[in-house]
Amino acid sequence: MDKEAFKKYGYEFVDWVADYMDEVHKYPVKSQVNPGDIKEKLPGSPPHEGEPMDRIFADFKDIIFPGITHWQHPSWFAYFPANNSPPSILAELLTAGLGAQCMIWQTSPAAAELEEVVMDWLKQMIGLPEDMTGVIQDTASTATLCALLSAREVATNFQANIKGARMPLAVYASEETHSSLEKGVKIAGYGKEYLRYISTDENFALIPEKLEEAIQKDIKQGIKPALVVANIGTTSSTAIDPLEAIGEICKHYNVWLHVDAAFAGTAALLLEKRDMLKGADKIDSLVFNPHKWMFTNFDCSAYFVKNPEHLVRTFEIHPEYLKTGQDAKVKNYRDWGIQLGRRFRALKLWFVIRSYGVKGLQEMVREHLRLAQLFKSWVEEDEHFEILAPVNVSLVCFRLKKAGASEEELTDINKKLLDNINSTGKVFLTHTSLKGKYTIRMAIGVRATQEAHVVEAWKIIKEKAQEILGQS
Ligand SMILES: *Cc1c(COP(=O)(O)O)cnc(C)c1O
Repeated sequence: MDKEAFKKYGYEFVDWVADYMDEVHKYPVKSQVNPGDIKEKLPGSPPHEGEPMDRIFADFKDIIFPGITHWQHPSWFAYFPANNSPPSILAELLTAGLGAQCMIWQTSPAAAELEEVVMDWLKQMIGLPEDMTGVIQDTASTATLCALLSAREVATNFQANIKGARMPLAVYASEETHSSLEKGVKIAGYGKEYLRYISTDENFALIPEKLEEAIQKDIKQGIKPALVVANIGTTSSTAIDPLEAIGEICKHYNVWLHVDAAFAGTAALLLEKRDMLKGADKIDSLVFNPHKWMFTNFDCSAYFVKNPEHLVRTFEIHPEYLKTGQDAKVKNYRDWGIQLGRRFRALKLWFVIRSYGVKGLQEMVREHLRLAQLFKSWVEEDEHFEILAPVNVSLVCFRLKKAGASEEELTDINKKLLDNINSTGKVFLTHTSLKGKYTIRMAIGVRATQEAHVVEAWKIIKEKAQEILGQS
C-alpha cells in the first residue's frame, strides 16, 4: 500500500469510525449471529495474491460488522462497560503508527517516562497513598497474577523457586471475588486447595472476623497465609469489602494485601466516593481498569504497588542482550510484569486525561452514579420488583417478584424476563447469582448513556415483566 492509498483509506476509516460513534444506537446491542455464521463466510485458506483494500473493507462491513456486539452502545448495561473515547481512539492510531515496542527504557524513552508520569497522575486522581508506584498491565487478571507472584516470593523470602523448600501458602478472598483470582492461583502454583473463600455479610462484603479465623486456622496447620484480596466493587454486585479492618488483620499476620478495584476504582475520582479506599495506607498492591470506566480503550489496567522492589525482584531478568548503560537510572518496565514486549499504553491514557481533564472525567462518572440511583428509585417504587444489593456505584441488582413464588419459580421467571428483554435487541443486560438468588444486573457506565436510555430500558423491563406476570 503506497502513501496515497494509506491516506485515502485512513481518512475514510476515520470518517467511518466517527459515523459509527454517532449511529451505534441504531444497531442491536448484542450481535444477532449464530455460532458459525461468520466463519462460514470466510475462506478456509489465505489469499495468495494481495487483495485491494476496497474489497477488504467491504468484507469488514458485510461479514465482520454483523458479528460485532456493540460495547459502546448507549443501551449497553451488561457485565461492566469497556469504554473507548475519541481521544483514546486517536492515541491508539498514533500508537499503531509508531509501532514502538516498549520493553525497556532504551526501546522508547518517552513511553517509559510517560508511563511513570501518567501513573503518578492516576495515583493522585484516585487518592492513593503518595508512596505507591504504578505500572500499566494489560488486564486486572494479569495485575492480580503479579500480586500473587510477588506475594509468593515475599512469603518465601524469594526462595519460591527452590523445589520442595516451601510450606504451603494460602490465599484469601471473599466468596464474591472475581474468577481471575482462582485462575491466578492455578497459574502461580499455589494450588486451588489453598484458596480460601471467606463468607460475606448481607451486603456481600467480606466479614473480617471470618478472615481472621481462616488465617489462624491455617497457621495452626502449618500453612502460611501469603495473600489477601480485598474487593472494592465485586463483579456480581459491586460490594465493597471493609479495607481498614482487613488491612489491620493483614498487618498483624504479615500478609500481602491486594485490592481488586477493577471496575469501581474509577469512582474514587470523586471525593465523595473516596471512603471506599479508606485503609489504603495498609495495602501492598491495587489494580483498577481505566479500560472499563475511564474511557480508555481496552487494554489498560493500572497496577499500583507499595514496594516496587518486591515487584522487580519477582520479575527481573538480566540477559546480556538486554543490558544497557542506563539501567541504573531508568525504569525498565519489562521487570515490572510478566511480558517482555510491551505496547505503548500510556499514550492513550495521557490523551484521555488531558482531553477531558480530571473535572470532565469526574462529571461523566458522577452522571452515571446519578443515573444508577435514579434507576434504583424506580425499581424500589415498583411493587413488582425488588433491589437485591446496595447500589454502591453504578450497578443496580434487582429482580422481578411474585407473591408466593418459590426460589425456583423466581429464577425461572427472571431468566425468562432477561431473555425477553435482551431479545428486543434494544438493550443488553446480564445476570448473576447473589446468595442463591437469580439477579438481573443493570450496569450503567457507557460514555454515551444518557437518562433517556435508562428510561427506555426501564420501560422495556416493565413491559416484559407485565407480559410474564400476565401469562402466569
Ligand atoms: C472486570 C474485573 C476483573 C477482570 O478484569 P480484566 O481486566 O478483564 O482481567 C477482575 N476483577 C473485577 C472486580 C472486575 O470487575
